Amino acid sequence: MGIFKQKPTHKSITCPSCGCSQDVALTAQSVVCKHCNVSIKVGDQKISQYAANVSLETCGALQIDKKGALVVQKRVVAAELSLKGSLKGNTIIYELAHIASTGQMAGDLKARLLQVDDGAILKGYFEIIPANGPALPSAPATPGHKTLAHATA
Ligand SMILES: [Zn+2]
Repeated sequence: MGIFKQKPTHKSITCPSCGCSQDVALTAQSVVCKHCNVSIKVGDQKISQYAANVSLETCGALQIDKKGALVVQKRVVAAELSLKGSLKGNTIIYELAHIASTGQMAGDLKARLLQVDDGAILKGYFEIIPANGPALPSAPATPGHKTLAHATA
């Protein structure tokens, strides 16, 4: 009779590369962006040991366990971050970045929401992205927009 809504089979994701939103099946592990044709990881990523990547981009959540250590050359992009171990590299989180008391973060972090527990160690430049503002990771600075310069190692 249509009274009950069907269980959702799709979720909305934001492409880490171009910032466009699209719907993907909940069961999908990766999709190709309709807009920019890059392959997007959709599934959650869990780091429970030392891992070094050029970059790690996912539309799911990124969880770094106490024993986990992630080092990226370029950047980390994820919908959510739960950091109990260590993370080194520039990071963009579309929703909540949670740095637990055992977490260590070194690098620049942009997130919509930032939650830092007592005891966490942070080293870098942190920026809160407004919910309704442009959150494109690679968006060029618009004229008149104040860009915060910082030295890159
Ligand atoms: Zn895209």
